[in-house]
Amino acid sequence: MHIQPKTRAETLHILFGSVPVWRLTQVEQALFSPFIRTFSDITTLPALWREPLHRAQVFISYRTTQVFWSQKKDTFKALLKLADGKQIETVLMKNARGAYTVCVSTQVGCAMACTFCATGKMGFSRNLSEDEIVDQVRHWIYFLADHPEIAARVSNVVYMGMGEPLANYDAVKQSLRTILKYTDIGPTHMTVSTVGLVPMLNRILDDSEWPAVRLAVSLHSADPQTRKEIMPTSYDNFPDTLAEWADRYFEKFDSKRRHLTFEYIMLSGVNDSEKHAEALIKFTRRIGKVRVNLIPYNYTGDVFHKSTQTDIDIFQQRLEYAGVDVTRRRTMGEDIAAACGQLAVQEEKTAIA
Ligand code: SAH
Repeated sequence: MHIQPKTRAETLHILFGSVPVWRLTQVEQALFSPFIRTFSDITTLPALWREPLHRAQVFISYRTTQVFWSQKKDTFKALLKLADGKQIETVLMKNARGAYTVCVSTQVGCAMACTFCATGKMGFSRNLSEDEIVDQVRHWIYFLADHPEIAARVSNVVYMGMGEPLANYDAVKQSLRTILKYTDIGPTHMTVSTVGLVPMLNRILDDSEWPAVRLAVSLHSADPQTRKEIMPTSYDNFPDTLAEWADRYFEKFDSKRRHLTFEYIMLSGVNDSEKHAEALIKFTRRIGKVRVNLIPYNYTGDVFHKSTQTDIDIFQQRLEYAGVDVTRRRTMGEDIAAACGQLAVQEEKTAIA
């Protein structure tokens, strides 16, 4: 039986271990070109090398793709089937800069079980490999090249799809480094969103290889009790722990432009009252450089209701009056279940051939 090496980097190393490093770089670089769709297309590579590469390694890590277009044609969701039959979703959405943001998944399912999130209800299946994460970005690079009528490029990547990125730390880190190395997307245009896994947040501070990408923490409440009720994995004293961590974070990534983002889903009667706004204001003052991103709740078939427009407006105004840097996330792709928290796929029922 033919055994696949685990990653492309491993394959390249096995096949071309003794060749100059720039040759490896040449292959890896080619993987991000919209014009190269098989190893045979890498014509700068000696023909003698293309064939073994073709035999030893799949060019891209999914078997089939299905793309859904939102009515407004500003959001696209792809369902990707992986080699083992598992399926994940990745989203492409138009951003304010007139370019596109790719939202990648990092796991099949998720173990965090946040009560408002569709992925959380699927349970956890497995981590994605570095290649499987990177290939979601490649998928959309090809998609845009194949649809010249869209005429735009990928400018941002957000790790906000299915899964908890920091629970798959190594693959996420490597994928960030690969995308940074082989595309023109810079670290301030990449965001990793996390529920706030404290041991992994600490690891970032001690890890010289962790790139200076932006971090977003899904806060959803500055009151530890409320947060725990809606996010069962939340630490008892999360706000205190996060505040201590943030001090060290700003020390390490010392930059005037550096800030943390807090994501905050507006759930009616749960976290949208004056009391919650006050707690959030107090907490953001304690943290310092922080931007709050208010997210309208997208329906996922559970007990929650979205806050009314008026409630969201009042909540936002309270923060603004208090000098908090606050933005509101646009909901996109709700008609194709591509909005935040709506990503969930069924297990493939049929056996793998
Ligand atoms: N596990 C990571 C990244 C994936 S979720 C995290 O929790 O940050 C990306 C964002 O969508 C998170 O802020 C998440 O809380 C939010 N989200 C989840 N369910 C949602 C829903 N039903 N409506 C709106 N946002 C949701």
